[in-house]
Amino acid sequence: MSETSPPRVIPLFDLRHDSIPVPASAGLASDATLPSGYLQDTRGRPLRDLRISVTDRCNFRCSYCMPKEVFDKDYPYLPHAALLNFEEITRIATQFVRHGVQKIRLTGGEPLLRKNIEVLIAQLAALRTPHGEPLDITLTTNGSLLARKAAALKAAGLQRVTVSLDGLDDSVFRQMNDVDFPVADVLAGIAAAQAVGLGPIKVNMVVKRGTNDHQIIPMARHFKGTGIVLRFIEYMDVGATNGWRMDEVMPSADVIQRLRAEFLLVPLEAANHGETAQRWGYATPDGQHDTDAGEVGVISSVTQAFCHDCNRARLSTEGQLYLCLFASQGHDLRSLVRGAADDAALAGAIRHIWQGRSERYSELRSQLPANTGTDVGKRRVEMSYIGG
Ligand code: SAM
Ligand code: SF4
Ligand code: SF4
Repeated sequence: MSETSPPRVIPLFDLRHDSIPVPASAGLASDATLPSGYLQDTRGRPLRDLRISVTDRCNFRCSYCMPKEVFDKDYPYLPHAALLNFEEITRIATQFVRHGVQKIRLTGGEPLLRKNIEVLIAQLAALRTPHGEPLDITLTTNGSLLARKAAALKAAGLQRVTVSLDGLDDSVFRQMNDVDFPVADVLAGIAAAQAVGLGPIKVNMVVKRGTNDHQIIPMARHFKGTGIVLRFIEYMDVGATNGWRMDEVMPSADVIQRLRAEFLLVPLEAANHGETAQRWGYATPDGQHDTDAGEVGVISSVTQAFCHDCNRARLSTEGQLYLCLFASQGHDLRSLVRGAADDAALAGAIRHIWQGRSERYSELRSQLPANTGTDVGKRRVEMSYIGG
């Protein structure tokens, strides 16, 4: 929030327990086939990417995610018993992998706050795809505990990390995390991750116009040529507490325009199907990609919908399966794993849920008149609960 604007925090709708029950017989009634490693939803989108939120707590209070006014000392975080334990997470993840998931991202809240997270990482790192391949296992963190934990994470089998960092200027960064956390400690975390080989590292910067857009160029200069891929994310109308306004969104096209005023850039191909970022390479004077200088990316979640090939499922901290970041309800897998469902029933339920998926919130929002965006699916779950 800019210093002059009035507080615009919207009260929280607590949707966490408002879930869709999944009968243990879902998906088993007529087609009790074994997972085939390939599922399609109603729009032909496969299931490839599973994001697992391991905690709803965080030591930061980024105003776009967990504003202090809502997430204060009285906020009712989930009790420990409500959280999926590591065995439950691994059991669910195993069935997702049998259905075609190739990549698992741990997130939160702040995932490094979850005690013994490296034990979970080791369990997930032991999983194999139906073709016998290891999974791509990664984690998104605010970086505050990374310097301390990087070596243990790497030893447990984590391959890489994405670090969120919204500016290099210490006062801007302290304002954005809203707990006065110094930027130097996050940079030390990134350096530690790089030193132990947790790469390629990505750094995500959420750009809020008027708050940190003047940090775009300093961030690009800082990470150019380091092997770290910086990505600029449009500020999204996720959740219901951040008081989102379209005029605070800096469209990716504007970010690229600013970068091009300073650097030569060439567009690059998407690294893989379902990739959310548009990639731009730093170029040599003759217009070739300068691989030593590296690349930047933009994630245009607001101005350019990428629902058509969205292959991401999200498992909340308490085991609700969300089919879209902007969903208002999850499907209750926890009661299956805590009930009598065996693995076949769990796999059948996941198949049934994914095959019924039709969500495409961003696409629908982009069809609304300009400068709106909050009209579709108003009751939305918080990002800190289902992860980014
Ligand atoms: N605490 C970890 C972190 O900050 O990296 C992981 C969880 S956080 C919810 C995951 C990502 O979501 C972060 O990169 C964060 O910047 C992003 N995020 C949160 N709220 C957002 C919003 N309103 N718009 C865009 N990105 C957002
Ligand atoms: Fe915490 Fe990450 Fe949300 Fe910031 S974006 S409040 S670090 S969960
Ligand atoms: Fe996927 Fe939903 Fe985002 Fe569209 S809005 S890309 S369906 S998470």
